[in-house]
Amino acid sequence: MRTATVVIIGGGPSGSMLAHYLCESGVDSIVIEQGAHFRDKTCAGALPIGLNDLLPEPLRKFSKTEYLSLSVNYRGISIAQQFSKSPFMYGVERKYFDEFLRSDIDVRYSEKFLGFDETKNGIITKTDKESYFSKFLVGADGVGSSVKRVANIVSKQYFIIGEETESNNPLKSDSTARIFLGFNKMGYGWAFPKGDKISVGSGAVKRSFKKGTLLKFAKTSDTKANIFPISIWQKAESITKGRVALVGEAASLVDPFTAAGIYSGIASARILSRVINKSLLNGNALLEGYNDEMEKSMYQEFEYARLLSSIFYPFLWLTKGLIVKESTLDMLIEEAETGNLSYKSVYERVTNSKHLQLRLALLFLKLIKRI
Ligand SMILES: Cc1cc2nc3c(=O)[nH]c(=O)nc-3n(C[C@H](O)[C@H](O)[C@H](O)COP(=O)(O)OP(=O)(O)OC[C@H]3O[C@@H](n4cnc5c(N)ncnc54)[C@H](O)[C@@H]3O)c2cc1C
Repeated sequence: MRTATVVIIGGGPSGSMLAHYLCESGVDSIVIEQGAHFRDKTCAGALPIGLNDLLPEPLRKFSKTEYLSLSVNYRGISIAQQFSKSPFMYGVERKYFDEFLRSDIDVRYSEKFLGFDETKNGIITKTDKESYFSKFLVGADGVGSSVKRVANIVSKQYFIIGEETESNNPLKSDSTARIFLGFNKMGYGWAFPKGDKISVGSGAVKRSFKKGTLLKFAKTSDTKANIFPISIWQKAESITKGRVALVGEAASLVDPFTAAGIYSGIASARILSRVINKSLLNGNALLEGYNDEMEKSMYQEFEYARLLSSIFYPFLWLTKGLIVKESTLDMLIEEAETGNLSYKSVYERVTNSKHLQLRLALLFLKLIKRI
């Protein structure tokens, strides 16, 4: 049986970066990844510049595009566009980004997690190839996490369904990230150029998702889009149990407004690495402190993001002109730069607005008890 202090299931951004953070503080880990080298993940690959603070190398080293402009379109009409002097977001191809994050860490490729047994002194993890003994086990295995299921960590799940395709981009130097509203209910579409490719996609809450929506706004004839679920954040009672903890999308740590999960996944990995360190120093076998740390650093903002999305998406037809303005985009760009979108401040601005349309939308949401 192989041993490691921490066994991590899943070599996506959350699992790989957890291994990096643990290594920086002298804690050894093994990452079990069911995919092979250069495994791909359906994703638009848009990363806020603030992620630079969490990564071992600057984003520009492996990104395909530095975005300098953000434009928003409503049912075919441009409603706002804003420019930035420096990049506020980067476009990566997940195949290469994830492979880069996995360099310099111990990854067992093409190996699948099957289950675990918790003992008094540690955890025995079983894969389809080996058994491992460790002090802690971390589920970084993304949406539909098997670790979460086996550990019986129960929480409500709320899904967005996304469809994405990458086609050839004739405008190689295009640095505008485009958002499309009004084509699907309770969701949005995007076109993010990435050098000679362009990622085009659309996502919406499960009950409103309609396959092929991207063809309504995208200049693509490619109908072979990949369809993949995204597990949006809902407050969970706990994302740990005994010696087991979840990071990233395995714990549904996905922004409820944008459905982006890479920044929050990596941020959760950093928080968990600190909690693991503390537990090891104190000889403590539990990881409960992780829930409190997440509450302080992420959950409050996510709660505001959830509230905002329940105002924004259903009432877009009524409020788009008030909410989507150059000033809003300015703020989004600025906050993407820090990686710290303050949903609380946006929410407060929206709920204090005197505009009749917004007041009506808020009243309706209060009546149906959504806010
Ligand atoms: C269409 C679409 C567009 C998106 N666009 C963006 C975007 O632009 N920006 C953004 O930030 N986020 C985006 N997301 C969300 C983002 O892709 C995820 O939130 C992110 O990948 C989560 O990272 P993770 O490391 O937690 O999980 P993942 O990246 O899903 O990694 C989990 C890993 O675990 C492995 N695994 C799973 N089960 C097992 C097992 N039993 N044994 C061993 N290994 C296992 C998988 O192979 C995988 O490599 C998008 C998602 C979709 C569907």
